Amino acid sequence: MNETLMQYFEWYLPADAKHWQRLVDDIDTLKKLGVNKVWMPPAFKGTGLEDVGYGVYDLFDLGEFDQKGTIPTKYGTKEEYLQATKALNEAGIMPIADVVLNHKANGDEKERFKVLKMNQTNRQEAISEPYDIEAWTHFNFTGRHKQYDDFEWHWYHFSGMDYDALHNETGLYMVMGDNKGWANQETVDEENGNYDYLMFNDVDFRHPEVVENLKKWVAWFLETSQVGGFRLDAVKHIDSEFMSDFIRFVRENLKEDLYVFGEYWKDDTDDKMDYLGDVDFQFDLVDVGLHMNFYQASQEGQNFDLSQILEGSLMKTKPEFAVTFVDNHDSQRGQSLESTVEEWFKPLAYSIIMLRQEGKPCLFYGDYYGIEGDFAQPSFKEIIDKLAYLRQHHVYGEQVEYFDHPNCIGWVNLGNEEHPEPLAVVMSNGDAGWKDMELGILHAGKVFSDYLRHSDQEVVIDDQGWGRFPAEAGSVSAWLPNA
Ligand code: CA
Repeated sequence: MNETLMQYFEWYLPADAKHWQRLVDDIDTLKKLGVNKVWMPPAFKGTGLEDVGYGVYDLFDLGEFDQKGTIPTKYGTKEEYLQATKALNEAGIMPIADVVLNHKANGDEKERFKVLKMNQTNRQEAISEPYDIEAWTHFNFTGRHKQYDDFEWHWYHFSGMDYDALHNETGLYMVMGDNKGWANQETVDEENGNYDYLMFNDVDFRHPEVVENLKKWVAWFLETSQVGGFRLDAVKHIDSEFMSDFIRFVRENLKEDLYVFGEYWKDDTDDKMDYLGDVDFQFDLVDVGLHMNFYQASQEGQNFDLSQILEGSLMKTKPEFAVTFVDNHDSQRGQSLESTVEEWFKPLAYSIIMLRQEGKPCLFYGDYYGIEGDFAQPSFKEIIDKLAYLRQHHVYGEQVEYFDHPNCIGWVNLGNEEHPEPLAVVMSNGDAGWKDMELGILHAGKVFSDYLRHSDQEVVIDDQGWGRFPAEAGSVSAWLPNA
């Protein structure tokens, strides 16, 4: 069975604390789609009820304690979260937790300590002498009363922050002290001189108390949540040695079969390959290169060379480590990494991730159900349902590519013993076109139709086993033999 993931959230979901319930109610839909892994949004108490989950305050509060003005998170209570992971596990769908370790937000008390103010665009360069600031770096989790864990975070567990309460100034502040400073350059992204710092209070993974506490936390969290996998947030800002050791620790001591994929937001293939090497190929990465190709193709229309659509993608260079996607909560309109694939190209992009055998496609909740509000977009449920059916039944056997024209490409999946019906896919980003593709003489004389119903033509396979498969202008067709 072909794998399919689903990212079961988008940025603008209502903060109604009902999302874990929605997920439970939707499990039959997920099964129909052939989804076998669900990436759930961060389940940890953030800066408040509205927090999407990336402003993490307390990793030990899954919507259980009255902290930051709310008991539930944006998505619901701890009890509802655990009901959701249980229901998914029972349905044979792996729940995947979004694990946000890079930073912590909204400390409980201010502390005074020494920093250097750093140049934002060259973070190796200090633009001040050492001086005192005050920042919200003491986390004592008063609302949790030390349940599950009595660790308190202090300024020396962080490497940097962006707000000085003493002088009421914002900037980039690097904490000073023994063994302090940014993560070693070779362990984080090199952009801005050193991209350790992303936001809020940046966690210092070289501090032994931090590492010890996170190991304690992960044991508690796996036992409590019963998730089967992790999606690691913002790994290009996290010391890769820590990340590698951490995942190894989990697999060796807690959960041997933990599934992991990381978000390394960069479309450069070399950086991705270096990173995979740095973490000993212990986990998959999201295929940002492919997403950026989709984005560019959707912007450029017929000026984009469709035969190059896989260039620089993990799908092409390291498919067994690729989690492919069209859009996500960061790339959707109005968000920090906005690079939304235009509507006309979404069916083509989803066909590429779902009707090919390389990579693990991840469906985006916002694309499936649509997005409401100022940054609205329509639902692509109808086409995704069809592609999901095809993926489950017809994306098997030898896959042959015909990426030989800048505006019209195609490929065939020839099928296997268990799934003998072949599938022929053709797409055009320009005028209507066609592609001659070989299915084999076994299929000579058979008549094929477009399962997606974008084309109403019929294709007859000739005596040599070839067919001339059409695609409408700016469209995709997926051809199956008539029953
Ligand atoms: Ca960091």
